Amino acid sequence: MNKISIKLAAYFLGIILLSTLLSFVAVMFLSRQVEEEIARDQRELAMTIQALQSQTSMSVEDIVSVITRSNYHLRPVGLLDSTDIGPAAHQDLDEDGIVILHDGPFKGATTVLQVGDSYVRIGMQPQYSVFQIWFSRLWNSFALYVLIAAALVVALTHKVVHPVLELTGATQEVAKGNFDVQIESSRNDEIGDLTENFNQMVRQLRTIEYLRRDFISNVSHEIKTPLASIRGFASLLQNPLITEQERVEYSEIIVEEATRLSNLSSTMLSLTKLENQESVETCSRFYLDEQIRHAVLLLEPQWGRKELIFNIELEELEITANEELLQQVWLNLLGNAIKFSPSGAGIDLTLQVSDGQAEVVIQDQGVGISAEDLPRIFEKFFQVDATRSKEGSGLGLSLVKRILDLQQGEISVVSAPGEGSRFVVTLPLGIPVDSKPQAKQPLPPKSTT
Ligand code: ADP
Repeated sequence: MNKISIKLAAYFLGIILLSTLLSFVAVMFLSRQVEEEIARDQRELAMTIQALQSQTSMSVEDIVSVITRSNYHLRPVGLLDSTDIGPAAHQDLDEDGIVILHDGPFKGATTVLQVGDSYVRIGMQPQYSVFQIWFSRLWNSFALYVLIAAALVVALTHKVVHPVLELTGATQEVAKGNFDVQIESSRNDEIGDLTENFNQMVRQLRTIEYLRRDFISNVSHEIKTPLASIRGFASLLQNPLITEQERVEYSEIIVEEATRLSNLSSTMLSLTKLENQESVETCSRFYLDEQIRHAVLLLEPQWGRKELIFNIELEELEITANEELLQQVWLNLLGNAIKFSPSGAGIDLTLQVSDGQAEVVIQDQGVGISAEDLPRIFEKFFQVDATRSKEGSGLGLSLVKRILDLQQGEISVVSAPGEGSRFVVTLPLGIPVDSKPQAKQPLPPKSTT
C-alpha cells in the first residue's frame, strides 16, 4: 500500500475506534441497566439465603458456602457496625432485613441482609466490575463493527486514492514527453473534473507539440528552398564563360532570394515578439483613412504592374491604436488582394463606422479560397497551394491576426474559388492607451507578402 492510502486508512480507523470507545463509555455512564441488574440479582440471592435459613437448620456459614456465585462474594459478617453501612441503611435493614447499597457507576452494588442474629454481606467479586460486564456483553458486537468498518475504510481509501495514483503515473508519462496519455473516468465529482482537466491539458500539449514540430519543418523548408537557389546561382556565377546578361540575371535572383530569406526571418521575429506580448505598446491618435491610403500608395509598384483598378471609399476617421503595427495589417491584406488578383481586375476598399467600430472592407476579384482551406488561412505557414508558395511564406495572415488580437480588433473573410475574397476588419475606435510609458520597440518589417 502507498503512503496516502495508509494515512487515510489510519485516520479513518482512528476516528472509528475513538468514536466507538467514546460511545461505549457514554452508554456506561448514561445507562444504569447493569447496576439495576446487579441489585436485583443480589436481592434474589439475599431472599434465597433468608428462605434457606428459615426453612432449614443450616448455619449461616453453611448456607453461604452452598450458595456460591462467580460474580458475587458472600461473607457472613457477624455483628454489623452501624458506621459500616451508615445509619439510614441500618434503619432500612432493621425494617426490611435486606438493604442494597449502590457503590458508584463502575463498582455496582453491595447488599447486606440479616440472617437470624447475624448478617451476610453480598459484594462484587474484586475482579468483577460494571465495566467488565458491559465489555463482556458488547465486545463481539464492537469487534464486528470495527472489522466491517476497517474493510469499508480500505475499500473507500482505494476508491479515493486510485485515481490520484493514476494521475501521478500519467503526469510522469507527460513529464517524459509522452503526450498520448489519457485517463478514463466516469466519475461526476471533483476527481472526475480533475481527470477531465488533465486529459484536456495533455490534448492541448499534444497540439502544441505538433505545432512546434510543424513549425520547425516549415521553417526548415522555407529556408532550404531559397538557400538551394542561392547556392545554385552562385556556382553558376563562378563560371567565367557566362555572358554579362546572365551574370546580371543570376545576381538579381540571388539578391531576390536573400531578400526573401531576410523578410522571412524578420516576420518570424515580429510574430514571436507579438505572440509573447499581452497588449500593444505606444498607442497614438491618427487618421485611419490616411493610413490606408498611404498603404495603397506604398503598394503602387505591385498593383501598377498588374493594372488593377482601386475603388476607394474611406470615411474620415480618427482612431487610437498602434500606428506601425496597424500599417502591417493593411500592407498584408492589400498585398494579398493584389497578389491573388488577375491583371486588370478591380479591388474595392471601404472604411466606415459600424456599431461604434471602424470597419475596413477589402474586396478583390481574385482567385478566391475554397471552403476547405478557408479555416486554415490564419495558421502559420499555411498557403493554399504549392504554386503560390514562391510568392510568400504563409506568415502574413498570422501576423495580421495577432496584431488585431492585440488591438482588440477582429477579422473575418468570405471567399469562394473564382469569386474573389472579402476581408472585413473591425477595430475599436480607441483602445485604452497603456498608462506605463514603454520603451519604443524596433519596427517590424514593412510587408511579408
Ligand atoms: P502568403 O505569404 O502566402 O500570402 P498569408 O498568410 O498572407 O501568406 O496567406 C495565406 C494564404 O491564404 C495564401 O497563401 C493564400 O493562399 C491565401 N490568401 C490570402 N489572401 C488571399 C486573397 N486575397 N485571395 C486568395 N487567397 C488568399
